[in-house]
Amino acid sequence: MKPIGPAAAAPRPAWRGGWLQAARRIDSPNYGARPASTAIDLVVVHSISLPPGEYGGDGIEQLFTNRLDPQAHPYFERLRDLRVSAHFVIRRDGALLQFVSCAKRAWHAGASAWQGRAGCNDFSIGIELEGLEGDTFEAPQYERLAAVLNALVGRYPIRAVAGHEHVAPQRKHDPGAGFDWARLRQLASLTGVEFAA
Ligand SMILES: [Zn+2]
Repeated sequence: MKPIGPAAAAPRPAWRGGWLQAARRIDSPNYGARPASTAIDLVVVHSISLPPGEYGGDGIEQLFTNRLDPQAHPYFERLRDLRVSAHFVIRRDGALLQFVSCAKRAWHAGASAWQGRAGCNDFSIGIELEGLEGDTFEAPQYERLAAVLNALVGRYPIRAVAGHEHVAPQRKHDPGAGFDWARLRQLASLTGVEFAA
């Protein structure tokens, strides 16, 4: 009989349930159940910064946990009572935060459709890059996003990566023209995954 004891140098699993272990976890209350037997096959890329164009503050965490003070900045007043979230946020330095389990439905895409299927929140993973439409993004953000995509493809039947601007073209324009899709495609190096741009 083999002795029973802790496995020596067991590799740390990449995932624990729907939580990516490389991410810092900050639980958002803004999520729900996905419809039964939904294949999670789309990633939606966004950009956000609060206040817009100001980087490094904690406004995004506050928004996604319903703790943003409407009086802290003139822009925040319009976000009062907004209930939103994304699965992941990637800061300008590449730091990775996760707010919602990938098994759950986060509230990032709103009214949206992808290849004839409406309601992208049901079947997608939402990833917010700290940034601004029209601004460029940082090298550590591309590297981290590519790594997250690879981790997602290893766990879910991801078939496509699109921007919010592609799934809600009438309403939304993020991540915007400053986002380099070709660079992401090259870094992620995924076969069998379609990129919207
Ligand atoms: Zn968006």
